[in-house]
Amino acid sequence: TTTPLTDLEIATRAKMKPIGEIAATAGIPEEALEPYGRYKGKIDVTKLTPADTDGKVVLVTAISPTPAGEGKSTVTVGLADAFSILGEKTMVALREPSLGPVMGIKGGAAGGGYSQVLPMEDINLHFTGDIHAITTANNALSALIDNHLHQGNSLGIDPRRITWKRVLDMNDRALRHVTVGLGGPSGGIPREDGFDITVASEIMAVFCLAKSLDDLKERLARIVIGFTYGKEPVTVRDLGAEGALTLLLKEAFKPNLVQTIGGTPALIHGGPFANIAHGCNSLAATMTAKRLADIVVTEAGFGSDLGAEKFMDIKARQGDFKPDAVVIVATVRALKMHGGVPKTDLSGSNALAVTEGLPNLAKHIDTIRSFGIEPVVALNRFITDTEDEIETVLDYCREHGVRAALADVWSKGGEGGTDVARLVLEQIGDGNRFAPVYDELDAFEDKVAAVVTKVYGGAGVNFTDRAQKQLADIRKRGWDILPVCMAKTQYSFTDDPSVLGRPEGFTITIRELIPKLGAGFIVCLTGDIMTMPGLPKEPAAMRMDVDHDGNAVGLM
Ligand code: ADP
Repeated sequence: TTTPLTDLEIATRAKMKPIGEIAATAGIPEEALEPYGRYKGKIDVTKLTPADTDGKVVLVTAISPTPAGEGKSTVTVGLADAFSILGEKTMVALREPSLGPVMGIKGGAAGGGYSQVLPMEDINLHFTGDIHAITTANNALSALIDNHLHQGNSLGIDPRRITWKRVLDMNDRALRHVTVGLGGPSGGIPREDGFDITVASEIMAVFCLAKSLDDLKERLARIVIGFTYGKEPVTVRDLGAEGALTLLLKEAFKPNLVQTIGGTPALIHGGPFANIAHGCNSLAATMTAKRLADIVVTEAGFGSDLGAEKFMDIKARQGDFKPDAVVIVATVRALKMHGGVPKTDLSGSNALAVTEGLPNLAKHIDTIRSFGIEPVVALNRFITDTEDEIETVLDYCREHGVRAALADVWSKGGEGGTDVARLVLEQIGDGNRFAPVYDELDAFEDKVAAVVTKVYGGAGVNFTDRAQKQLADIRKRGWDILPVCMAKTQYSFTDDPSVLGRPEGFTITIRELIPKLGAGFIVCLTGDIMTMPGLPKEPAAMRMDVDHDGNAVGLM
């Protein structure tokens, strides 16, 4: 037997078409395409011809992630290629990978095997510079705030109550808490500050939810950066900075066009994390894909409790569209871990452990049903899976009236995804009764409780004293009409990452509320979730290199 090729080797050997050809396939006129080199381009949506279609949105989500890996991006890309093979005019819309996880645990996030987006090396590294533009806009605002304090502070901003933080697109725990403004009078006003990872920033969220450049500017203007000595909110509009910030983002705001290995046009744009932010690619990219294609396959981060919930309750609501189908990705390996098997014991057939892990899948199925949508299950096949284990999952789905099929897209590309694609088309044909799990006008506690009980399967919610005080203030200002954006561990339905499977009877503790007026939601921090991750003991970066011809080594 030969060693299977790595993701990077497969990506490097794949033959890419010039980006102009991909644009032509997608129906993008030449004047709307701004090539970035040979295989990437930005789309000027103002130059697109009027929409002749309103594509169906297929959302790909997954069971609760485990270190065994689920392969959600892999299935998303493979499924899109499968639709193309079936003759559907298809586009895929994905998030841009953050360099934090690329250098940390993941080593890359552009799909895997024969289901990848290309050029994978660029997509995983600096791509078209959008994340750098977002970082720059964020830090320009920080600089303007500190300069405002230094130049006399006419707005009366309380340096102790500035909530706006600096950002960096890296996992860098050493920057979580910093002191700025040192060095005497010429260094500005000393104060405590801190860094978040760029993909957790409100600028990223605003960027991903804005419908147009004007909407982007208006949302940026609404961002609250802190409070005055009189405890009144200070906004970007008060500082007069929204014009400059929008200018810094105007090119980044154009969706990026690339291709899958199967030649399906792909938009990769925006990349908020799903555990600490809302977890979906930009609304601009999704809406552009809806205009151009009949089927839009898109992904929301982590399990259905995180990315998919926010896709439904935040993105679809703000974007005023409905998801037409949902695919839940599961793997035998991850189900075995939910069934209690440690990562080191995953080899060898163990259908019993798969059965014991199925309640986790069952809860994700129920969660999607709570949004009025019947999900399709895609079992992402690993070469180590046995027939027995595979049948255990598919039988379970059949018995529970859930459409399910094997996705063999990692080893076969789109050809391995046509069974799932056909089931999705059937599901779209059936229609759905989509509705978010709460109404925006519900009391704030009820909105949080709806997510905890219906989506996580928990019993209730606790607010710490601090969170209760913050809620009283949020209510006083009338901000409680916004949707909630839960920040929670991705590994468990609870706020404790070690509780796998399908826990019941638990409560979720909300420790802090952060109003994000520009994004248009209130973040609820639970558990120990951090908005600036750290690197693991063996960072993926340690395997990376570049050869003397300038080719990447060690991206996954
Ligand atoms: P997610 O989107 O769920 O984080 P990805 O699709 O990025 O997962 O996949 C994570 C890693 O797992 C990638 O390196 C990919 O190549 C690998 N992978 C995914 N599916 C399979 C599979 N069926 N067999 C082997 N490796 C896989």
